[in-house]
Amino acid sequence: MTDGLAEFQERQAIAAALEEIGSLLELKGENRFRVRAFRTAARALAGFGGSLRSGLEDGSLARTRGIGPVTLAIIAELLQTGRASLLDDLREEIPAGLVRLIEGAGLSVTRAQLIHERLGIETVEELEAAALDGRLAALPRFGAKTAAGIVKAIADRREASRYRLLHRALAEAETLRSALRQLPGVLRVEAAGEVRRSMEVVSELVMVIVTEDARALERGLGPVAGARLVVATPATAGAALLTATGSDDHLRGLGERAAARGLALADGALTRGGTALPAPDETAVYAALDLPVIPPELREGRGEIELAARGTLPILVERGDLRGCLHCHTRASDGTNTIEQLAVASRKAGYQWLGITDHSQAAAYAGGLRPEQLLRQLEEIDRLNDELAGIRILKGIEADILQDGAIDYDDDLLARLDFVIGSVHSRFGMAADARAMTARILAAMDSPFLTILGHPTGRLLLSRDPYEVDLDAVIARAAERGVAIEINGDPHRLDLDWRHLARARAAGVAISIGADAHSLAGIGNMEFGLAMARKGGLAAGDVLNTLSADEFLAFARRRR
Ligand SMILES: [Zn+2]
Ligand SMILES: [Zn+2]
Repeated sequence: MTDGLAEFQERQAIAAALEEIGSLLELKGENRFRVRAFRTAARALAGFGGSLRSGLEDGSLARTRGIGPVTLAIIAELLQTGRASLLDDLREEIPAGLVRLIEGAGLSVTRAQLIHERLGIETVEELEAAALDGRLAALPRFGAKTAAGIVKAIADRREASRYRLLHRALAEAETLRSALRQLPGVLRVEAAGEVRRSMEVVSELVMVIVTEDARALERGLGPVAGARLVVATPATAGAALLTATGSDDHLRGLGERAAARGLALADGALTRGGTALPAPDETAVYAALDLPVIPPELREGRGEIELAARGTLPILVERGDLRGCLHCHTRASDGTNTIEQLAVASRKAGYQWLGITDHSQAAAYAGGLRPEQLLRQLEEIDRLNDELAGIRILKGIEADILQDGAIDYDDDLLARLDFVIGSVHSRFGMAADARAMTARILAAMDSPFLTILGHPTGRLLLSRDPYEVDLDAVIARAAERGVAIEINGDPHRLDLDWRHLARARAAGVAISIGADAHSLAGIGNMEFGLAMARKGGLAAGDVLNTLSADEFLAFARRRR
C-alpha cells in the first residue's frame, strides 16, 4: 500500500465519519443547517486536491469552500487520533439497532422506537420478516399498507446502497486518479467503467493504470474499497481501456465481431491465435474490428455497434455547442444568488444567454413568486440587459403544473415572459395513478405558453421513484404541440432518463438541458445534463441550448 492510496482511503473514512455525524444529527431532529454542514464538508473533502495532512498544516483545508471551523476541527481530530468524540457520543446516544431500522427502512425515530420496544426488533432483516408475517401491521397506527410500504422501502434502500450518484463518483475517481498517478512507474491513469460511460449512478470505480512494468506495479498495489484497478502496458492500454469501459452487452457485441475476424477480445487484450496484437489505443482495437471509435457514453449494447458499422453513429452534442444556460433559480425564490451574479457566472462559463426561472406562486414552500414580484423581476432583467455586455438574460419561470394541468399564473402574465418551463412539483396522490398524471401533463402541453416540460418524471435518483406517467403519450403530445422536454441536469434528477431520449428524438421532440441551478455552482449541472444528452445519442441540432438567444425566443413564440 502506497502513501497515495492510504491517503485516499483515509479521506474516504473521514468523509464517511462526517456523513455519519450528519445522519445521526438528523435522526435526532437537529437543525437542518447543522446537518447539512457535515454533509457539505464530506463532499468538499472528496474534491480537495492534495493531501489532507498538508492541507491542514498550510491552512488550505481551512480555506476550502464547504469546510467550516467545526467540521475542520473534527477532520483534524480524525487525522490525529483516528476518532471523533462527537461521533462517539452520538453513537452512544442513538444505538446502532435503531439507526439500522431508521436508515435501512426510512423509519422515523418514533416509529423505530415503537417497533423496537414492542417487537424487540434491531435489524432490517427482522423488520422485513415482521412486515411480511403481519406482526408490524398489527401494531397501533400501522396497518397492512404501512407494512407493505416498509417492505418496499427496505428493498429500495438495499438497491441504493450499491450505488453512488455520478457527480460523486466523478469526484472520487478524480481523487483516486491523482493518488494512483503518484505511484512509481505509472505513465497515466484513466477512469473507465460506468464513470467513463456517464452512467447516472455508479456501482464501481474502474481505473486503468498504464505502466511499463506491470508486474512491479501489481506487486505494490493493495485492494481499494469500491474500486477495481486494471494494470496495462502502453502496448495493451487501448484494449485494456476498452474492455474496462464497455458494458457487458457492448463487449459481447464486439467479441462476436472479433470472432468473425479470427480475433479474440478478452481480459484486456486483443489476440489472434493466442498472440496479443498491438492495441496502444482504442482506435486501433475498433479499427481491427472494422469500426470507428464509438464514444464511451454510447457503449451500452443498445444498437451502437450496428450504427457504427453502417457509419451512421450520431455526432454527439458537445460542450462547445451549448450557447444557452437554462433553468436557474435566484434568491427571489429558493436560490441563493442574484440574477446579476448568475448572469456574470454563466458568461464566465462561456454561455451567451441565460434563462432565469424562479418558482411560481403555487410553490409557496419554495418561495414561489407572487405576480407583483415576478413583474419586478422582469424590470430588473430589462435593466441588467442594458447594463451587462456579453450575456443576454431571458425572462422565464418554472411554473407549477397544477392538479388540473393548468399552468400557474394567468395568461396575461405568462404572455409577458420569454418562455415557460412547466413542472409537476405537487403530486396530490397521483404518484401511482398513471392516467391522472398523464392527463395532467398532456393538458399542460395544450397551453400555448408552455415552452419546456421540466423534469418530466419527478424522480430523485436512489431516493424517489419516478411517478407513473405514460411517457409515450407525453412524447407524442410534445411532438404534436412543439413543446420541448427537459433533461434536468441536477445530478439527483437527470430526468428525462437518457434511455428515453432516442424515442423523443425520433419523434422530433426538441430537448432542453436545464441546470436547475439554485446557486452559482449549480450552473455546472449543465455538464451532467450534457452527459445524459450524449448518452442518449443526441446531436447538437436536437438540443435547444445550442440555439442563439433569438432562435430560442422564436422557438418559444412559435406556439403562441
Ligand atoms: Zn422543479
Ligand atoms: Zn427548478
